[in-house]
Amino acid sequence: AFNFNAGPATLPFAVLEKAKEAWLDFNGTGMALMELSHRSKDYEIVHNKAIASLRNILSIPDDYEVLFLQGGASLQFSMIPMNLLKPDQTANYILTGSWSDKALKEAKKVGSTHVAASTKETGYHRIPELEEINLSEDAAYLHLTSNNTIFGTQWHQYPNTQVPLIADMSSDILSRPFQIEQFDLIYAGAQKNLGPSGVTVVIIRKELIQSQPALPTMLNYETFAKNNSLYNTPPTLAIYLLSLVLEWVEENGGIEAISKRNEEKSSLLYNMIDNSNGFYIGHADEKSRSHMNVTFNLKSEELSTKFLEEAKQIGFVGLNGHRSVGGCRASIYNAVPLEHVEALVSFMKNFKEKY
Ligand code: PLP
Repeated sequence: AFNFNAGPATLPFAVLEKAKEAWLDFNGTGMALMELSHRSKDYEIVHNKAIASLRNILSIPDDYEVLFLQGGASLQFSMIPMNLLKPDQTANYILTGSWSDKALKEAKKVGSTHVAASTKETGYHRIPELEEINLSEDAAYLHLTSNNTIFGTQWHQYPNTQVPLIADMSSDILSRPFQIEQFDLIYAGAQKNLGPSGVTVVIIRKELIQSQPALPTMLNYETFAKNNSLYNTPPTLAIYLLSLVLEWVEENGGIEAISKRNEEKSSLLYNMIDNSNGFYIGHADEKSRSHMNVTFNLKSEELSTKFLEEAKQIGFVGLNGHRSVGGCRASIYNAVPLEHVEALVSFMKNFKEKY
C-alpha cells in the first residue's frame, strides 16, 4: 500500500522486518519480547537503548530528562499545566489548529490561561509572525504546536522567549534539526515519526520537574524521572519498536539526511500543486507550509471526491483530509519512501489531465 495516513502511519519497512525477532524467541530468551518482565535485564537493555539513541539523535544535554509515558500526546495537554502552572501564573498558548485548541481547553480546567497569538480567524492557514506573539504577565510558559497535522502548517522559526517554551512535536519530531536548548519541554505521541501508538515521549528540562505531593502519582513528571520511566509497567513493545525506529534514523544519516529527504518529498507535492493552474489548491500559506502533512483541495467538492475514490482504487491509502476540514491530505512522515511520493505526483498529474 502507498500509506499516506496521518497517524498511526507508515513504519520503515526495515524496522518491521527486524521486529520479527521480537516474536517467539527474543534474544535467545525463548520468549517473545512482550512476554518479558519489564524488570528483566533483556528488557532493560531495550529501554535504555531507546533513551540513549534519542539523546544521541537530538543531542539532548544532561540537564534534560527523557521520559516514556502513556496516554498519548493528549494526556500531555493536561499534565503540562498540572505540573507547570502555579496558581498565581498564567499559561500562554499559541493557537494554530485543532491540537493547540485542545491543549488550551485542558489548561483552562487547571488554571488561568491566555492566548498569546492565534490564526483561527483566518482558518488556520498560517503560523503567526513572531511579532504577533503577545505574552501575558506572569506567564508560566508558552505552548505551541510545531506542526499542525490537520491544517498542514509548520513553524519554520521558533520564538525566543524569556519564559519556558513548550512544543507539541507529535507530527514532526525527528523530521528536521532543531535546537533542543531553545525548548524547556517537548512532547510527541509516537505514532507518526517515532513508532507505533502507545508510548509518548517527553523531553523536559530537569529544573522544571518538581515534587508535587498533591498531584496523582501517575500524573507527576517526577514519578517517571525518578524511576527511569519504570515506575509502573511501561508499553514495552512500543518502546522496543521505538528503539528500532531510532536505530533506523541513525543508520540513515540522522536528522540532517532525513530532513533533506523530507524536503525533497514535500517539494515534489508542492510543485505539483503550484504548477497545476489552480486545479489543486494548497490550504497553507506558502511561508507556513508543512513538510509532513500536505493539505490541498481540488476545484470542486465533486472533483475531490472523485480524486479520493480513484486514488483509493490504485492503492493510495489515507489521502482524505481530517474529518473536521475535508479535502485531501498527504502525510509524508520520515518513513514514507520518496518513490511513494513520486507515484502520488504521477497520479495527480494523470488525474489533472483526465479531468
Ligand atoms: N498533537 C498533534 C500535533 C497531533 O497530530 C495529534 C494526533 O494526531 C495529537 C496531538 C494527539 O495525539 P494522541 O492521539 O497521541 O493523543
